[in-house]
Amino acid sequence: MATAPKSLAALDAAVSECRACPRLVRWREQVARTKRAAYAGEQYWGRPVPGFGPADASLALVGLAPAAHGGNRTGRMFTGDRSGDVLFQALYDVGLASQPTAVHRDDGLTLRGTRVTAPVHCAPPDNKPTPAERDTCRPWLARELELLRPTLRAVVVLGGFGWQALLPVLAEAGWEVPRPRPRFGHGAHVRLEGPSELHLLGCYHVSQQNTFTGRLTPAMVREVLARGASLAGLD
Ligand code: SF4
Repeated sequence: MATAPKSLAALDAAVSECRACPRLVRWREQVARTKRAAYAGEQYWGRPVPGFGPADASLALVGLAPAAHGGNRTGRMFTGDRSGDVLFQALYDVGLASQPTAVHRDDGLTLRGTRVTAPVHCAPPDNKPTPAERDTCRPWLARELELLRPTLRAVVVLGGFGWQALLPVLAEAGWEVPRPRPRFGHGAHVRLEGPSELHLLGCYHVSQQNTFTGRLTPAMVREVLARGASLAGLD
């Protein structure tokens, strides 16, 4: 399913139908049925959440997986949860998002030259996909990056999980990933040679665990995004 789509629009439609991980399918659909009390009147998306952003993006943001009551509810990455509040405010502040808030997939938000995606497209229990689920979902990310390759110049990776998941995908896609593999860290910057020069930037994940404790501040997110935008030619 993941290798067939010839465009990002087709890929987004195809991934939304994926049922390859039995545990995640059960979980995402159960959450969509039981709902959180605050959203009891809403129709949850309850399916794999596709990437979001233009097909000619030069900057990609790679996170972890949709949140049970965020992306799994609204149908768009980082939309409708606290992590997204931080991320989209920062994207807006550096000129990459048309508005500072993201509440639903039909709220009119657009991104400039930026695509937001994840190595796992279904909400996992406790935000923890298994290694097998990460590997099962890998072809979707691989095809997404392949379709973006003509324009892609920089990737901001939000958190160590995304970093570890992304490196093999980039290596398979032809970029020269150094050995030993570069380590994740906030502010890490690796330049990869390959089909085109690609800058890889590390940023702590915008999870509440990081933002509520002050480990990651809005200024730190803005700084990495602005650097990614500059390297991607979007400043
Ligand atoms: S996590 Fe990925 S591979 Fe697994 S069911 Fe969801 S979309 Fe399919």
